[in-house]
Amino acid sequence: MDLRPEEITGIIKSQIRNYDRRIEHNDVGTVITIGDGIARIYGLDGCMSGELLTLDDGVYAMAMNLEEDYVAAVMLGSDRNVKEGDTVKRTGNVVSVPVGEQLLGRVVNSLGQPIDGKGPVTAADHYPIEMPAYGIIARKSVSRPLQTGIKAIDSMVPIGRGQRELIIGDRQTGKTAIALDTIINQHDKNVICIYVAIGQKSSTVANVVETLRQNGALDYTIVVSASASELAPLQYIAPYTGVSMGEYFLRQGKDVLCVYDDLSKHAVAYRTLSLLLKRPPGREAYPGDVFYLHSRLLERACSLSEEYGGGSITALPIIETQAGDVSAYIPTNVISITDGQVFLETDLFNAGIRPAVNPGISVSRVGGAAQIKAMKKVASSLKLTYSQYRELQSFSQFGSDLDKDTKERLALGERVVEVLKQDRNSPVDVADQVMIIYAVTNGYLKEIPVSQISEYEDRLFSFVRDNHGELTKEIKESGILSEDNEKKLKDILSEFTADFIKTK
Ligand code: ATP
Ligand code: MG
Repeated sequence: MDLRPEEITGIIKSQIRNYDRRIEHNDVGTVITIGDGIARIYGLDGCMSGELLTLDDGVYAMAMNLEEDYVAAVMLGSDRNVKEGDTVKRTGNVVSVPVGEQLLGRVVNSLGQPIDGKGPVTAADHYPIEMPAYGIIARKSVSRPLQTGIKAIDSMVPIGRGQRELIIGDRQTGKTAIALDTIINQHDKNVICIYVAIGQKSSTVANVVETLRQNGALDYTIVVSASASELAPLQYIAPYTGVSMGEYFLRQGKDVLCVYDDLSKHAVAYRTLSLLLKRPPGREAYPGDVFYLHSRLLERACSLSEEYGGGSITALPIIETQAGDVSAYIPTNVISITDGQVFLETDLFNAGIRPAVNPGISVSRVGGAAQIKAMKKVASSLKLTYSQYRELQSFSQFGSDLDKDTKERLALGERVVEVLKQDRNSPVDVADQVMIIYAVTNGYLKEIPVSQISEYEDRLFSFVRDNHGELTKEIKESGILSEDNEKKLKDILSEFTADFIKTK
């Protein structure tokens, strides 16, 4: 080809004119060491704490320690193909996850990627996993109930929307069952639920998902799962992912329930991670900031004032104790962060008292304000009756000669315990709870043998549903047990109890 000199200068001139002077500015670093899922990276000067980094073959890492001459990052994927000398790029974003309605009914991992084989999710938005909690001005006090549908809890340790209530107990005491029942009970209550499984077996999580699905609760629930086989960093970020997904709904003024199952395993994952990062160990070899780990998570639970949309996030963290020891490091931390705890006991569980709630040391510091008036009225003496019964019971084991009063109290206590028993996956409506608790505390069950109480309860509920539906409806809607309705309830109970005894 023949080019004349003026053509050549023309081409050069036009290239110079169109030369794009933007320099692609990318903060790039180099892997110095890699191992145990931790990469030490040189050269990422402007890196932010918690920033997402990409490595050569598309794996992600999260910057955790910003040291003077290197950044230590935890791998969010396999480090098998990462080598010393690989390049690392900053993304400029802290770790974020997809949020939105599309996630409802789905099972996702800690990065918000679906793992249930039902195809991709289209996110409405992306939220960083770490966000500052709402301040004092934005909040209002807890005033609306979060009905768990569990008689022992709604009556004695009531939970309000926006509260943080710890579920604590040894292994296999029904902790998860309580959380799941609570989720199942939200089916008609307009509460979005988020269940975060941390460090559990995949089969256990599969069972949870199946239980939710069978009870029609999956449609309004997001399951975030970081199972035991997953990397410690993924287990570490799982609860923050969960609450960020909840905050999306909170900002629309909705009510959200977050279950963290469980934070003991979360603390262990964080310990693994921080010891590898060489953060100094503190008490019980947990790093010193393990308190901050859980406090910043649980502070994100809130009840917002009307100007901020009036939504709420209720947190139900779960802690597993060893041999009932609540004075260990992690349990005491979380007890002090939360607004109360539901304490589950192995002895009670094994004695068939399920849910195994020990009302003596279970408390709810703010939920009483949120309890509906009708329940407050009927349940006021329940906790006392229950505790007195426990004391009398241990004391009466020694003597056979008991006076009439003691015998009566024991009989009442036995009936209270029986009434508070409840099978799993069968939440009871609040109006029904009011009825049965009214019945037991006012002596309607005196003549009923303890073994027949559960049958009595079932039949009472269906009897009232079929014949006096307006009563339960009124209690539910007004939230109070008016004098009129109390009288009605008395009549119903007398009639029904007499009939029940006759048919037996
Ligand atoms: P883990 O420590 O393994 O997580 P957990 O404390 O979460 O256990 P669950 O898995 O909820 O306990 O329950 C343990 C067993 O007890 C399960 O088989 C469950 O079906 C049974 N269970 C729990 N609650 C009840 C209940 N109210 N009535 C009958 N069985 C129950
Ligand atoms: Mg469990």
